[in-house]
Amino acid sequence: MMDYGKIIDAIYRDLNTWERTGKVADYIPALAQVDPQHFGISVQLLTGESFHIGDTLKPFSIQSISKVFTLAMVFHHLGEDLWKSVGREPSGTPFNSLIQLEQEAGIPRNPMINAGALVVTDRLLDDWKNPKEELLSFVRCVSGNPSLSYDFGVANSELANSDRNRALAHFMKSYGNIHNDVNDLMDVYCHQCSLQMNTRDLAKSFQFLVNRGVNPWTGNELLTLSQAKRLGAVLMTCGFYDESGDFAFRVGMPGKSGVGGGVVAYIPNVLSIAVWSPALNPHGNSTLGIEALERFTTLIGNSVF
Ligand code: GLN
Repeated sequence: MMDYGKIIDAIYRDLNTWERTGKVADYIPALAQVDPQHFGISVQLLTGESFHIGDTLKPFSIQSISKVFTLAMVFHHLGEDLWKSVGREPSGTPFNSLIQLEQEAGIPRNPMINAGALVVTDRLLDDWKNPKEELLSFVRCVSGNPSLSYDFGVANSELANSDRNRALAHFMKSYGNIHNDVNDLMDVYCHQCSLQMNTRDLAKSFQFLVNRGVNPWTGNELLTLSQAKRLGAVLMTCGFYDESGDFAFRVGMPGKSGVGGGVVAYIPNVLSIAVWSPALNPHGNSTLGIEALERFTTLIGNSVF
């Protein structure tokens, strides 16, 4: 049996001595306050065992990682029709870029960039009565933690600084690809990004993907087997924006990052791993988080390849 505890211990000890290169997200003022020294790693096995080192109990804002949960809800609900309004190609552009939208008639490249995630959240507003409450119950259910919540300070800070996301939404609305009022959409989107989790919650919340669509905590099917495959493929090719190729190359797992400094990745049928380190590289992905994951798949000698 692989000694995952010993492996993450060694990674943590070495990387914790590194200078934190990069900077915390400061375009959302509430995130600029976060101490860049935080560092934690959690591994969750499908067998139920888990391993933790560092700051694994302190909650942080999961930001774009929330896009995975809204995508799972909406994809399961709409099925293949979803791909009429959002693509599944890597964009090669930053997460908040507007540049492709005009050429591609308001259809975002994929659901992991902000434009695509806004379309997905818009569909949540279409068909769910109380999207914020229902998203919260989904994440509580997949993480097995009934006390997870939004960070209203972060949500309000982002709402007050959402000009870029509003621009994306209005532009897509002009093509008919956003159905709801942009203020209502921003409210749900900024709340979803403010979801607070620690690395333990985060690693657990990806177990339904490790388990290929079935929530291991409840036995409920959240995605069909085919949808779990498709969602994993989208994470592998688009989860790190214009750094997705490099992440796949270095780490070899599907995963997702957020500008709160969280990174989570998984190997189907085996494990999920979450890392938190708030200092971000120029692509908006956690510098130490990616380094830790690269070392992890190297040391365990396993990945999806
Ligand atoms: N809330 C952030 C935004 O919309 C999420 C971006 C991210 O985590 N990459 O800009």
